[in-house]
Amino acid sequence: MLKNAIFYRLVHKNHEKENIFALNGVFLYQIMGNCALSKAKMEQEKAKTLVEFKKCPCCNSTEISKRFTCKDQFATGEMFDVFECSGCGFVFTQGFPDEKEIGRYYESQEYISHSNTSKGLINKIYHCVRSIMLRRKVRLVKRLTLLKSGKILDYGAGTGYFANAMKHAGWEVTAIEKSPGARKLAKEELGMDLLPESALPEIKEKAFDVVTLWHVMEHIQELGNFWDELHRILDDTGIAIVAVPNCKSYDAAKYKEHWAAYDVPRHLWHFTPHAIMNYGEKHGFILERQYTMPFDGFYISMLSEKYKGNSMPGLRGFWNGFKGWCAQSRRKNASSSIIYVFRKKR
Ligand SMILES: [Zn+2]
Repeated sequence: MLKNAIFYRLVHKNHEKENIFALNGVFLYQIMGNCALSKAKMEQEKAKTLVEFKKCPCCNSTEISKRFTCKDQFATGEMFDVFECSGCGFVFTQGFPDEKEIGRYYESQEYISHSNTSKGLINKIYHCVRSIMLRRKVRLVKRLTLLKSGKILDYGAGTGYFANAMKHAGWEVTAIEKSPGARKLAKEELGMDLLPESALPEIKEKAFDVVTLWHVMEHIQELGNFWDELHRILDDTGIAIVAVPNCKSYDAAKYKEHWAAYDVPRHLWHFTPHAIMNYGEKHGFILERQYTMPFDGFYISMLSEKYKGNSMPGLRGFWNGFKGWCAQSRRKNASSSIIYVFRKKR
């Protein structure tokens, strides 16, 4: 185990592409006196750490091809390929680290959805927009359910701000968050008890009126299983509110591989409005409506400018964010992120 851990750290230090990763892997393993390791075993080891697709994870078509390569701008600087299915248009990160390995790609103070750092202009704007969005989200839940209070699960609750806002609005709130650090912060700052991921299978059938996933679906590895669980825990009249980045947005088209919302390898799936509708339908849901998230484009554009290394990323990003805002007011599907409302099929 220890040898495997050292091996993994070494080969990941500066690798740029997955094929280099494989070659280095063989080399280092030999240096470490493990020559007896068969090729088949090596393949097994690799399969354990990187999740690769031969077929489209949405429609099973073999017509998948590379769109471009993106850099992990937050944690490691490693490169990951982004693939697209020509059958259904589903876009996904190819060769992402599996559940056991992906944790270290979140280890950055800058990963602000999991921390409350307010250093720098972009983070300050993020925090300001967050409080406006919180109020908007609470109103949206009430309007869509026609309930003043009900039972809600916030899945991937981060540091618990939305869950806390729903609690204050009089709802019975359950919140699940994978990161122990974020759960600790939620407890310390808001007194919120968030549950770990392992709590999901324990939840009773049809337990909730609403399940919310604010920028969470794109991180979930077992996507198909998760949608089945979502169907199981929602009441027959319940709704799932799913917010994800839109890789067919104005800003995604503008920044291409530098688009900050690709956020590889943390974002595994890059949904288009059409692809997420298909995915939901396959799992017993119908897409009832969708809403734009007009502020996200500003934040994502500023971050994308920073990633491109342009001067004055704040100013340029703001201008492109404004152009994206104009585009999404004419055409909903141009929005940087979209909130989808799914209802169970009757
Ligand atoms: Zn497909």
